[in-house]
Amino acid sequence: MLKLIRFFTFMSSFLAVGFGGDNIGISFGTEIPIHTYIPILPTSISVPQVDVIITVDWEGMGLRPENLYAMKKFRERYPDIPLLHYLNPAYFTKPGANLNEVKEQIDGVLLPIDQLGLHLHGWKSLFEAATVTHRRYPSMLRGNTTLTDEACKIDCGFEIPISVYSREELRSVIRYSREILKQHGFGYPVHFRSGAWMMSPSLSEALASEGFLTDSSAVAVNFIADELVNYPVLAWLKQLWHQGGWGISDISQPYQVSNRFGNYYEVPDNAALADYISSAEMMTVIKKNLILEKMSLTENGFHTENGPHSEQRAKRTVVLGFHQESAMRYLPRVISMIETVKKYNALPANEREGVIRFTLFNNSLL
Ligand SMILES: [Zn+2]
Repeated sequence: MLKLIRFFTFMSSFLAVGFGGDNIGISFGTEIPIHTYIPILPTSISVPQVDVIITVDWEGMGLRPENLYAMKKFRERYPDIPLLHYLNPAYFTKPGANLNEVKEQIDGVLLPIDQLGLHLHGWKSLFEAATVTHRRYPSMLRGNTTLTDEACKIDCGFEIPISVYSREELRSVIRYSREILKQHGFGYPVHFRSGAWMMSPSLSEALASEGFLTDSSAVAVNFIADELVNYPVLAWLKQLWHQGGWGISDISQPYQVSNRFGNYYEVPDNAALADYISSAEMMTVIKKNLILEKMSLTENGFHTENGPHSEQRAKRTVVLGFHQESAMRYLPRVISMIETVKKYNALPANEREGVIRFTLFNNSLL
């Protein structure tokens, strides 16, 4: 366990990655046939508004008291701000896990206003529990280096990208994960984010097959580039989301992904996670989107009698968040952003571009 903790400490500056060799996902952009920007929910608003969704990635690594405490204090301070938790079932599959204790610890930082999604890393204990043969390479940190038996003594695979598994293997893991979460009262997640924002045709097809409504694995790579510069994962992510024709940036908005198994909305994590982005940068992204929203309203929404566009546009969305496993260290950045937003919203109307709202996917997108 000590090793695992040390490993986590080592990993904490670049959590949320996954990988494989140079072959991973290279042709992804061309294999998904349809990716079109589609405003999701028709709405009529006249005041420019940006919806900010605060997400939490649960890595499945460990539930340390200091991080849970930081989250608890956050919930007490902001009881009206909902969180979208991408829960990881691997806490329940770890050897020797005390299932009741794990459930209590997770429950302790959830609120009824929250939304639950699914977050998967390539954990051995989870994949084997789902009767899928576990893979020990490639590694998002060390390329094709294989995890050793020693490294896998307790559990391993955090840094193995789930995108290397086949569609059917991933479907098995997803079904098993949903079963575990359901057993412990965490519902039936229909929102997904992949470990390390990885993606592949097999994963995209698995998500569509299993009826997910959204995926938020697309990421604005520029925010994470400095931290990940020495690791293979960065090149993979650039290929997937930046250079692969998708051009995901801090102003990217939800779009529909379709494949032969169905479709879902890709909701870009356009302000990354707090481990990689300062509160000031978060505010810059939010304000940038608010200004674009205002420009869009000026062009379309203020002319409701003159054109059809005003009824078919959605508010802009900013997705950001933090990791449960590093909440103590990085949640303060989110808190600082929230305080700045509160002050901004309190300004006289003529001194701001519009309104910033903290909400969830089901309120703003679906
Ligand atoms: Zn993760």
